[in-house]
Amino acid sequence: MANPTNFSMKLSKVVGDRTAKALSEELGLETLEDLLRHYPRRHVVRGELTDIESLNEDEEVTILARIQSVNVKRIPGRKGAILEVVVSDGRAKLILTFFNQAWRTKELREGREGLFAGKVGLFKGKRQLAHPDYLLIPEGENKEEAISDFAGKFLPVYPATRKLPSWKVAQCVRLGLDAIGEIAEPLPEKFREGLGFPTLQQALHQVHSPASLEEAQRARERLTFDEALAMQIFLIQRKNEIKKQRTKVREKRSGILEKFDARLPFELTAGQKRVAAQIEADLYSSAPMFRLLQGDVGSGKTIVALRAMLAIIDSGGQAALLAPTEVLAQQHYKNFQKLLGDFAMKGMLGTADVSTRIALLTGPTPSDERGEIITGTKSGEIGILIGTHALLTEGVDFEDLALLVIDEQHRFGVEQRDVLRNRSELPPHVLVMTATPIPRTVAMTVFGDLDVSTLDELPLGRTPIETHVISANEKPAFLERAWKRVVEEVDRGQQVYIVAPRISATDNSDFSTFGLTADELARARRLSGEEVEAAEFGKHSVEELFPKLSSGELKGLRVSALHGRMSTHEKESIMRRFSASEIDVLISTTVIEVGVDVPNASMMVIMDADRFGVSQLHQLRGRVGRGTVPGLCLLVTSVASGTPAMLRLEAVASTTDGFELSRLDLEQRREGDVLGSAQSGATSHLRLLRVIRDEDVIIRARQVAEQILEIDPELTTNSALLDVVDKLRQEERASYLEKK
Ligand code: ADP
Ligand code: MG
Repeated sequence: MANPTNFSMKLSKVVGDRTAKALSEELGLETLEDLLRHYPRRHVVRGELTDIESLNEDEEVTILARIQSVNVKRIPGRKGAILEVVVSDGRAKLILTFFNQAWRTKELREGREGLFAGKVGLFKGKRQLAHPDYLLIPEGENKEEAISDFAGKFLPVYPATRKLPSWKVAQCVRLGLDAIGEIAEPLPEKFREGLGFPTLQQALHQVHSPASLEEAQRARERLTFDEALAMQIFLIQRKNEIKKQRTKVREKRSGILEKFDARLPFELTAGQKRVAAQIEADLYSSAPMFRLLQGDVGSGKTIVALRAMLAIIDSGGQAALLAPTEVLAQQHYKNFQKLLGDFAMKGMLGTADVSTRIALLTGPTPSDERGEIITGTKSGEIGILIGTHALLTEGVDFEDLALLVIDEQHRFGVEQRDVLRNRSELPPHVLVMTATPIPRTVAMTVFGDLDVSTLDELPLGRTPIETHVISANEKPAFLERAWKRVVEEVDRGQQVYIVAPRISATDNSDFSTFGLTADELARARRLSGEEVEAAEFGKHSVEELFPKLSSGELKGLRVSALHGRMSTHEKESIMRRFSASEIDVLISTTVIEVGVDVPNASMMVIMDADRFGVSQLHQLRGRVGRGTVPGLCLLVTSVASGTPAMLRLEAVASTTDGFELSRLDLEQRREGDVLGSAQSGATSHLRLLRVIRDEDVIIRARQVAEQILEIDPELTTNSALLDVVDKLRQEERASYLEKK
């Protein structure tokens, strides 16, 4: 039975053609359900109005005030403008700032009154609200009446646009609430009661039009829970599907692995041994492994993965390693050659008595070599094939692909994993490695369809990394000192990375490598006035720093530049020379972000460090301190002290615990943002859920999901819930197709 509600009714039937068109164009709302799930950001209450004088910094406030002046300021030398609106309560003043929203001058006009809500910040000693929500009191009406209409009620404040202000959205929602029929309840009664939630029908009314703020809160909790539940069901069902599959059963045989272990110059850590045992158990079972191996940078994941590949080769199968970038695939290839030595020289002189072949296949691999690799892979002669996405698209056939290792999971989406698994007749084992450590609950949420193994200690002998923040504006002398330190480091025989957020001064193409989405950039801007001002994109670029430093502060050192726009050949050659210590200082973009391993590099200077995400900074600095000397990382920034951006940098400097930093990084993100690789439109059915804040909700939802599926694995008796989960599934699929 389909959902009996009129949820899918077109909005033109509810609000008329013209308004429906605006809702569609402005907010992407098409159906009655879309409209009702366009939840208000908050409710404002007249009784809670605060007089401006009494406002404290960092306080969330709602004030009734009159607009005193409106001013659009261009930012010299940058794109964009700041809209500054001064409001007053008759006594004190408050500044409202909006970045790049000059169009708001159409409605934010001198003399108008409204409710303004946001967090009080201090900018140059003045109190302000950055990007406040607001509700203007309608003009032309009797003011007393308008205000009293506001009073005593909980007014929803909606995400809105110029053409569709919040009050207009509210009108539409009221029509929507009147139009809605009976809504099928997706949450089984016993769970709903146990959790003390309103029904979905009630919740949708209450979230828009509550009788009290508590009621609105409760409704939100219910709706957030629904999202978590759908997500968990989706993931558990996937996991169950995978579990049902069968793969070729392999036998453990002695061969390369034993001899490799005997030659390892170090002992595996306890964590590595534990994880290796988990993987080994999987490899010889008839169910395909689907496992996430997570561990901080340098925790020794690669060795664990390589050992698994060797075990597979010993048992007669082949392994593939998929890396997100060419540089990283290269690095793995070289590293494996080094680690394996004569074990990887099958067919050559001086080969060990047991051996295999490894090969590297990327987009730019020359065609004769490619042909040879494809033949060797097909015949089974190549035991380990390493490559980038090229492996997926090039029609590479294996003789017997038994294990697929994917490095850096966060760049690949759920569906991409499936494409790979579907490459062979029987699904191969899949091991996914990620160096962005993910808190347990998040792992459960985002990778709930994978088993998770964690390496939580660094191998003994790793040297600590010291991190400092350098405020380039406030303490320019410190930056000078930093360059001197680079020279000293090189004099001592070490090497240094300098990382900049952009390739050239005029180009924005490196944004995607920031690890920040446009949304996140926008959010960062909204956080504070200072950040609004700093929202031009990193001043420093590789092409500007390279000539400046190599003829200036770093004169006499062997300095090279590296960025994503260079040819593969150039990149390789530079990386090779850096690895061989023929280059002292490498000025680069984040192409060096993941996995690159040059133990002699002991120092990293990150320019415009505020432009990078917390986890990304942590990843970057993981490139140093891999050798015997302690690592040093300097985060150079021009943001002011006390700003959220600065606090983030200070957090990175204060701990090397990747898990802790990852939490910090994820706190702001919605679950959908974390899922898969920057799939922008993905999982738009997850509107309220946030991975860290809603940790408890997710855990509870997981439990409920398990119980529901235990009795009814296909949700045959709950079409309402099936509906929600199906939507999620479709979105996941659609977002993957878009990406392809
Ligand atoms: P990850 O892939 O997790 O970043 P790697 O596997 O590259 O980490 O390991 C980082 C470095 O530590 C490598 O040089 C590796 O040879 C070394 N290493 C790995 N395991 C151990 C261990 N148990 N003891 C000492 N060194 C180790
Ligand atoms: Mg690695």
